[in-house]
Amino acid sequence: MARDPRFDTLFTPVRIGPVTAPNRFWQVPHCTGMGYALPATLAAMRGVKAEGGWGVVNSEYCSIHPTSDDTPAPYASLWDDGDIRNMAAMAESVHRHGALAGVELWHGGWRSGNVLSREAPLGPESMMAENVPWQSRRMDRADIGALRDWHRAAALRARDADFDVVYVYAAHTYLLTQFLDPSTNPRGDDYGGTFAARSRLVRELVEDTREAVGQRCAIAIRIEVTDEDGTGAEERAAFLASLAPLVDVFDVTIPDYGIEMGPSRYVKEAALEHHVAHVRATTGKPVVSVGRFTSPETMLRQIRRGIMDFIGAARPSIADPFLPVKIREGRPEDIRECIGCNICYAHDGLGAPIRCTQNPTMGEEWRRGWHPERAPAIVGQADPVLVIGAGPAGLEAAMTLGRRGVPVMLAEASREPGGRVTMESRLPGLTEWARVRDWRVDQIRRLRNVELFLSSAMTRDAVLETGARHVLVATGSRWRVDGRGRSNPRGAPSFADARTMTPEAILSGARPGGPVVIFDDEGYHLAAGLADLLAADGADVTYVTSEGKVAAWSAHTVEQARLQARLIERGVRILTGTVVTGLLPGSASLSCVYTGRAFAIPCAGFVPVTSREPHDGLWTALQDAGLSSLERIGDARAPGLIAHAVHDGHRFARAHLAATDELTVHRERVVLRAT
Ligand code: ADP
Ligand code: SF4
Repeated sequence: MARDPRFDTLFTPVRIGPVTAPNRFWQVPHCTGMGYALPATLAAMRGVKAEGGWGVVNSEYCSIHPTSDDTPAPYASLWDDGDIRNMAAMAESVHRHGALAGVELWHGGWRSGNVLSREAPLGPESMMAENVPWQSRRMDRADIGALRDWHRAAALRARDADFDVVYVYAAHTYLLTQFLDPSTNPRGDDYGGTFAARSRLVRELVEDTREAVGQRCAIAIRIEVTDEDGTGAEERAAFLASLAPLVDVFDVTIPDYGIEMGPSRYVKEAALEHHVAHVRATTGKPVVSVGRFTSPETMLRQIRRGIMDFIGAARPSIADPFLPVKIREGRPEDIRECIGCNICYAHDGLGAPIRCTQNPTMGEEWRRGWHPERAPAIVGQADPVLVIGAGPAGLEAAMTLGRRGVPVMLAEASREPGGRVTMESRLPGLTEWARVRDWRVDQIRRLRNVELFLSSAMTRDAVLETGARHVLVATGSRWRVDGRGRSNPRGAPSFADARTMTPEAILSGARPGGPVVIFDDEGYHLAAGLADLLAADGADVTYVTSEGKVAAWSAHTVEQARLQARLIERGVRILTGTVVTGLLPGSASLSCVYTGRAFAIPCAGFVPVTSREPHDGLWTALQDAGLSSLERIGDARAPGLIAHAVHDGHRFARAHLAATDELTVHRERVVLRAT
């Protein structure tokens, strides 16, 4: 189908300084958990984005010097000429598909603890470094001069690595914002005090970069439109205007990372729009900004209303590297929309390559050779595969097998597909998570060789009656009611009580008849979400967690602070560092994890969120059925994140009748050479 001509605007080339972007799709710099350590993994992933139509593909934060070392978080580097070759691999891979490659030169200032390099962190002031109990060195004039030299040298290396766009990075509380912001820059010299003085270093780096590489590369600046506290917008606007003659493109954002990187639970599409709308008029230069854009209509509106020239995206380009191609080819319904869960970001923070709930191929482009749009077709006529369970694992497996040309029967016990996704998307704010189900169901409907059978609970006999010789069991898992989990591997016999309710029961509408106790021994978002849901319904809720914070693991997904704030605002009683040890008549007995002090609180309803039981009974029952292949996948194999289930479904669908070389997992590693 031809695309609607209205969207042609998104595909017009835009000149930025000495280079021309082929269209308006700009993959903004985003962390990858790959960095300098995994250059082939990184190059392949960025290349796929370019292949998918992103006109400009940027690197993650790229350190200019060992005084900017974010270990254990992975970052790119251009510390010396030895780094050029690895960075050039990314630029080359992006150029292969006609896109421009950009690099974000970065100095972390005092945010970098420099645990690897053992350099003293730097900053406008001597301040606490991030996550470590030591401080930065207050930069003197010589340090500032050195910083300018390092930045210039890194820009020249970026040019030599064949990058087309070089960023000066003045956002996200790194070094340049530490100078810019009045709250972090108490200096009395000509780099502190007035706005002109605080912004001097930014201006100097822009001038240096322009002078060094401005004939060959476009100069971009990533900068916030206000100070950290949301004030100073006018000063910032005047500053951006004054930089305009030196800058080719403004990549603008706001200081609140919780909104910029906002989880869909709290932040919806185009959330930055009214904050950045003035920059284009103020500067007269091309502007890019983000907003978790997945709707082509919203993108078009941004361009038409003159808010931005480029549609900036990190997460939408991770969830669907082929988003621009799908708009270009007039098939927007094929866009695999980001659900705003931030599992991608979580893994960078964990020091591992990013992955994506929606896109199981993210991070696997080089390692496993997976392409987001193609999986090898089956050679010849394939026997049918029976997939049991239409949760995220079963849906992904059925869809991928179907695309490979395999006839698939997908049997689901309940009346609607989606499994846990259907359940969890009922939690406050999580409606967008249902996209995991909806996109796959829609794709499956268009595959003639895949049939979805709802209300079809399968037993061993029912499986054998289908005559299928290949079976994938994707029957999921259930939250345990016996209390087994991290804090209590043996469980608690008294949890077997009429007051005990599963998360599934609550999400299906069951409600406790009095004070409810929720015991979070898992640490991600579910227990906190249930507390929010029940409290919103007017229940008297006590949330008990063995951790020190509400939903501690959700700090990785930028949700923790707001989840905790939400429970406080709703009047939920929060007991941290505490476990539920048993149920007594009318009460729950609790214990402090540090002192062992025991106490009791009223309890008329109890929801343990401790661990899950893999629901693999059918897989066990089929062991002796003489099937040609039988696998359990997703939560039925090992309960995990939705991202695990989708990845597992994809992996088993690719492995089905695959040649051995397709199953090879490559490793990037340092190899010593004989000297
Ligand atoms: P996963 O995350 O691994 O995909 P889910 O729990 O989300 O797991 O989904 C499992 C799905 O399997 C649920 O929709 C459930 O209704 C379905 N299911 C479980 N047992 C059977 C069965 N015996 N026959 C058909 N469907 C089943
Ligand atoms: Fe979007 Fe979640 Fe994928 Fe990140 S992991 S790109 S937030 S769907």
